[in-house]
Amino acid sequence: MGLVVLGIMYLRRFANIAKPFSLAVALIAFSLQAAGRSYRSINPALVSRAEQVTGDRFTVVTTTPLGVTVFARTTPRVDLLNAIDRGFADLFAVAQRHGYRNRLRFSDYTVFIGRADRTKDSSGRYSPDIAVPAQQYAGSDYDQGGFIYAAGMVLAFNPCAFVIAEHDRDLGRVSNVVRYEGEHLILYYNDRALYERTADHSRGGGHPILQ
Ligand SMILES: [Zn+2]
Repeated sequence: MGLVVLGIMYLRRFANIAKPFSLAVALIAFSLQAAGRSYRSINPALVSRAEQVTGDRFTVVTTTPLGVTVFARTTPRVDLLNAIDRGFADLFAVAQRHGYRNRLRFSDYTVFIGRADRTKDSSGRYSPDIAVPAQQYAGSDYDQGGFIYAAGMVLAFNPCAFVIAEHDRDLGRVSNVVRYEGEHLILYYNDRALYERTADHSRGGGHPILQ
């Protein structure tokens, strides 16, 4: 984005000796392309995996005020970014109480915000969730016919990444989902045995895992 600003300032100063409009368009196009390259270059395999799981295109990348990397389809609202930070703050606090030391920085995490495949649960309550392949949940109570609805899903361990659904309200739920998905990643790096016992909810158990 810095490029765009520079380009426009440059054009203002030299407006009468250039063709300002066409040059401005060229500069802006160049700048957007550069931005597009840089966000994909963060981790192209991770972005591809997230897009494959969700069927979404993540064209926006930003960071929360406390430093979590966020990919989204449209620019996320600031209060949503703050809700993500609150979820991680709660998670890190409980992790520290357990004496965990690894992956306790906001910048260790990447969150994808995908399109919700449903916005209400079976009882009619606001519950934006994403549909993901059933896999080990096939035939369980969660199975909707080859897929399950999940509030969030871990995508990668290095970097630590998961996906949640877009919310336009109930941002406390966003904080909870972040805290819960983050639990799996914190456990993976701090208590592998507990991670193994709790990673697969089709065998029972839910969240929070850490009290
Ligand atoms: Zn879980």
